[in-house]
Amino acid sequence: MKLHITVLPGDGVGPEVTREAVRVLRTAADLYGCEVSFEEHTIGGVAIRECGAPLPEATARACMQSQAVLLGAVGGPEFDSLPAGQRPESGLLALRQALGGYANLRPAIAYGAIADCSPLRPEIIKGADVLIVRELLGGIYFAEPRGFESGSCPSAYNTMRYSEAEIERVAHVAFQQARMRHRKVTSVDKANVLETSQLWRKTVTRIAREYPEINLDHMYVDSCAMRLITHPGSFDVILTENLFGDILSDEAAVISGSLGMLASATIGGKVDLYEPVHGSAPDIAGRGIANPLGAIASAAMLLRHSARLEQAARDIEDAIREVLDAGHRTADLSRGRAKRAVSTAEMGTLVESAVADVTDRRRAYHAV
Ligand code: NAD
Repeated sequence: MKLHITVLPGDGVGPEVTREAVRVLRTAADLYGCEVSFEEHTIGGVAIRECGAPLPEATARACMQSQAVLLGAVGGPEFDSLPAGQRPESGLLALRQALGGYANLRPAIAYGAIADCSPLRPEIIKGADVLIVRELLGGIYFAEPRGFESGSCPSAYNTMRYSEAEIERVAHVAFQQARMRHRKVTSVDKANVLETSQLWRKTVTRIAREYPEINLDHMYVDSCAMRLITHPGSFDVILTENLFGDILSDEAAVISGSLGMLASATIGGKVDLYEPVHGSAPDIAGRGIANPLGAIASAAMLLRHSARLEQAARDIEDAIREVLDAGHRTADLSRGRAKRAVSTAEMGTLVESAVADVTDRRRAYHAV
């Protein structure tokens, strides 16, 4: 099997964490006989400096011609004074739009070894492993009409709108994900108040009939927000619309203990996009201390969704767990307690060699 990936390291810590993600991805793919080629392009601030635009044409073209895009991060303080449409972030927004992904996947995992990094008590987050599937192209962020009205009492308005087709396609993604996990989908809405949520609930319930092996329950978004931090372990896949998903996925992030741990995938469009959740972290850029695990976990998602190499993805995820269990920490996770915080590159090397060990051990186990 062959896989062609466009790599967009971007700005700040982007290139540092992406280098490690590429290293681990290459090793894992190799172990599974998948031939990967990487083509690197600029985006964001570095593209503005080199080409005068945050999303150069050559970058956009390369992305559209590849099977997946792996991105670092964009942005930096030196660009903050530019008009919104010319800033590095506008390049990423334009890319997301061009790729057209409608399902945003954000896992939030409580790794036992770093449970003390979360502001939640260890006994609350123990075992939590949630995947939020957020609808990304519909709902209140995009629907018309929207705007301001002047007058004696100025007002503003937005429209929340969903079509059945938009709900159906993202529901399928959630049920298919649940199949590979613990076979439970919690659909989150506000059906006691909103018509869009009533359509959402009805449509998700209908689609669920195609997945009889999956357990579906429905929850109002306010209850879900509370339950996510009181009983995060009770969730498997959370399926929700754009606005609710935006808020809930940030809330769920506290389970993992550091922004540097969080991965994401945006799928369903022409080409799928994989990126860590964090930004360019200008405060630590260039020092080699950024946590690459979110970027590495994004590479695992790439192997799962774009290469259909589920076992390779799991091997990377197991390797991350093993490296943390062995006590290795980047600075954001060490809180001064680790013997010595490892660098970005050291963490990448540790995960890379753990991937090879995990794969070897599993193959030896299945061989006997
Ligand atoms: P940020 O995510 O860059 O940083 C927030 C905090 O988390 C900082 O203290 C940073 O040091 C820390 N952090 C982030 N990633 C880390 C990692 N891998 N390891 C260790 N610590 C890490 O968010 P911000 O400071 O609000 O934004 C900085 C720039 O990034 C801005 O220009 C912003 O627009 C941009 N940004 C880009 C993206 C993206 O590319 N997807 C997302 C968010 C922000």
